[in-house]
Amino acid sequence: MQYDVIVIGGGPGGYVCAIRLGQLGKRTLLVEKNRVGGVCLQCGCIPSKALIHAAGMYRRFSEAHRMGIYYKELEIRWEETQAWKHGVVDRLTRGIHQLLKGNGVDFLQGEAALAGDHRVRVTTEEGVQEFMTDAVVLATGSEPMVIPGFEFDGEGILNSTQALSLEQIPSSLAVIGGGYIGLELGQVYATLGTRVTVIEMMDQILPGVSPDLVRVLERRLRRLKMKVYTGAMARDLKRTERGYELIVQKGDETIKVACEKVLVTVGRRPALTVPGLEAIGIERDERGFVKVDDQRRTNIPWIYAIGDVAGQPMLAHKASHEGEVVAEVIAGHAVGCDYQVVPAVIFTDPEIAVVGLSEREAREQDREIQIGRFPFAALGKAQTMNETDGFVKIIADPKGLVLGAEIVGPEASSLIAELALAIEMGAEVNDLALTIHTHPTLPEAVMEAAKAVYGQAIHILNEKGR
Ligand code: FAD
Repeated sequence: MQYDVIVIGGGPGGYVCAIRLGQLGKRTLLVEKNRVGGVCLQCGCIPSKALIHAAGMYRRFSEAHRMGIYYKELEIRWEETQAWKHGVVDRLTRGIHQLLKGNGVDFLQGEAALAGDHRVRVTTEEGVQEFMTDAVVLATGSEPMVIPGFEFDGEGILNSTQALSLEQIPSSLAVIGGGYIGLELGQVYATLGTRVTVIEMMDQILPGVSPDLVRVLERRLRRLKMKVYTGAMARDLKRTERGYELIVQKGDETIKVACEKVLVTVGRRPALTVPGLEAIGIERDERGFVKVDDQRRTNIPWIYAIGDVAGQPMLAHKASHEGEVVAEVIAGHAVGCDYQVVPAVIFTDPEIAVVGLSEREAREQDREIQIGRFPFAALGKAQTMNETDGFVKIIADPKGLVLGAEIVGPEASSLIAELALAIEMGAEVNDLALTIHTHPTLPEAVMEAAKAVYGQAIHILNEKGR
């Protein structure tokens, strides 16, 4: 059978690409070896955010007495939480199938391999089928990295997928790797009563994020009694009667961490899981990502690559954006990827969201900048929500052009969208400051941070002389 395009991998890169190709009238086949939705829907963004939301509800209930709300006993029935999470994933999975069908995209569950020029072989439960195609889009994503001696067994030594589906809330958990995945999951369990210890090799958790944002999160982690070791290496793991003893080296000090389970989240690597791809001579960079140009073309003219397999940032919305761009490139549109503005969110509690140039990067590059900052504690809406930790920070050039923004606090994940649009549109600080924002709402903090750039925020005392 002949297709215009075969998309390999049904994650947020691949399925979005396939839908857009369908909209553009291309005869398209999507091949996925597991369930459609990929890491993002099946074992990443969605299930993790479902558990984070549930843990957030639990936290808010436990603090509700501050608003005069009392209840007899707060109880979590983990099995039911897990069942609800599975329900969310199943509903969204069915939704994608309907969208594929509605857009005329063929779907095949099976493992795809390249069988020569313009030829794709798919192994399904029923057997092997071969297809001819004008173009192939690789959207095979990424997989967790393993550290020797800490190989996942799904029982005690876990990757993020396994940690999302534990049958019981563990009594204690050691998290190796203080990046966003480890912290998001670690904090879920800590909120629900697990004793959590985080071990991070670098001198700060969330390496790369500006330290003032991280400090706000660290305060919350301390309140949850999470123990965080930075500049520390997990050296060895011994089985004990009750679980494990993790040996951690921090400078000259050797620390022993007793834990029931160990979660290893030390990063992800591109998954080039398509047999025949190496033989065809696909080029990869030194970190294993498939090399692509700004239209996501590889060195093989009929093969494109998108999402995690095609480079950083490994984020679902970046994968989906590339999926749409590639579909349009294949349809002959003059489009390409432009990555000046890729917002990124860490769904810890409080959330951290960044877009564009960070203060840290600006200082490292010795750039002349202006900064406006507004704390949530000064915002009426944040007070009414009892969510006052954190701030909005806007980074602008000397003429007022918005270059970047950093937020830590309630709904940072949603607030960052206004700032992403501002940078994308080439907005100036005054465009944000002079836009009337509804009251009382969290986005007022964005307006106030913009005013603070010029020392004109209303609800804080501005620095003198600005
Ligand atoms: P994937 O989603 O990895 O999909 C690739 C698909 O290809 C897989 O389904 C795989 O089965 C299939 N495949 C591979 N080889 C073959 C083959 N030979 N034949 C057929 N099918 C094949 N990102 C965010 O933006 N926000 C978040 O909040 C967020 N949270 C995350 C939480 C966790 C715990 C994890 C692990 C990741 C999270 N991410 C998040 C990252 C996000 O999941 C990825 O960036 C995104 O899924 C990448 O999409 P993709 O389409 O490139 O690949």
